[in-house]
Amino acid sequence: MADLRPYDDRDGKIWFDGALVPWREANVHVLTHALHYASSVFEGQRAYSGEIFKLTEHSERLVKSGKLLGFDIPYSVAEIDRACNAVLADSGLEDGYMRPLAWRGSEQMGVSGQRTKIHLAIAMWDWGAYFGEEAVRKGLRLTISPWRRPAPYTAPTESKASGLYMICTLARHDAQARGFDDALMFDWRGRVAEGTGANAFFVRDGALHTPTPDCFLDGITRRTVIDLARRRGIAVHERAIWPEELESFEQFFLTGTAAEVTPVASAGSWNFEVGDLTLQLRKDYLDLVNRRLSNS
Ligand code: PMP
Repeated sequence: MADLRPYDDRDGKIWFDGALVPWREANVHVLTHALHYASSVFEGQRAYSGEIFKLTEHSERLVKSGKLLGFDIPYSVAEIDRACNAVLADSGLEDGYMRPLAWRGSEQMGVSGQRTKIHLAIAMWDWGAYFGEEAVRKGLRLTISPWRRPAPYTAPTESKASGLYMICTLARHDAQARGFDDALMFDWRGRVAEGTGANAFFVRDGALHTPTPDCFLDGITRRTVIDLARRRGIAVHERAIWPEELESFEQFFLTGTAAEVTPVASAGSWNFEVGDLTLQLRKDYLDLVNRRLSNS
């Protein structure tokens, strides 16, 4: 059963600046730079059967995200890996979602934040299917977001930066208010980009097509699914995809650490089938993360 308590009122420990502290004591002050100016970056990773999938890739991305926002996290990738494993061991969970977060502290107020201390916290909790089990069977119903992914010259789009999620939350709220599961976002040029927290893949004539990640996150799940598809001899085309083409795709699925591989049934007026290739890649992905399939 999922824990329905608020996220600040749970049992267990959170790794906070170098030590495991009681969950309810992992707090920050309201005059924290990150809270005012979105000077924070984060990761989302999952443990399966007691092992964090592609942990080092996530830790590397966290460090890189911080650098793209102009700060160095005061821990090495190896130290972050060790801290994540300590959180996993302490949690008592075999499967779950883990959230490392790095942010600028409260030493400075105003847009400048060079003198702030950089903090790091890591929490883990039980988190089942992000979109629910039914979505996996029937496929998600997406709307087209009124918000677009920004151009790389307007925001650090390669970073998993909290600030970039402002439009994702707005997009998802807009979708849910109108009865949809989520939204498909276009980019500033009007090309198909991604979901609000997951990458997009399309199937046509047995091949995969996925937008080039030149203004949004090149997801770790995305790259994993590309590998899995190529292992099966399935052609994968990374390229610019314009909305006009959506009509011609037979299947559509989203990929992400939280979303895993989730079929999409519709996006705006475009409909898709929950097809064999999508379900095969979903199975391959779950087999891989649960170590029923080898890594190469
Ligand atoms: N795009 C966005 C906006 C996301 O939040 C995520 C989830 N981190 C992804 C794509 C997929 O990334 P990953 O597969 O590395 O989780």
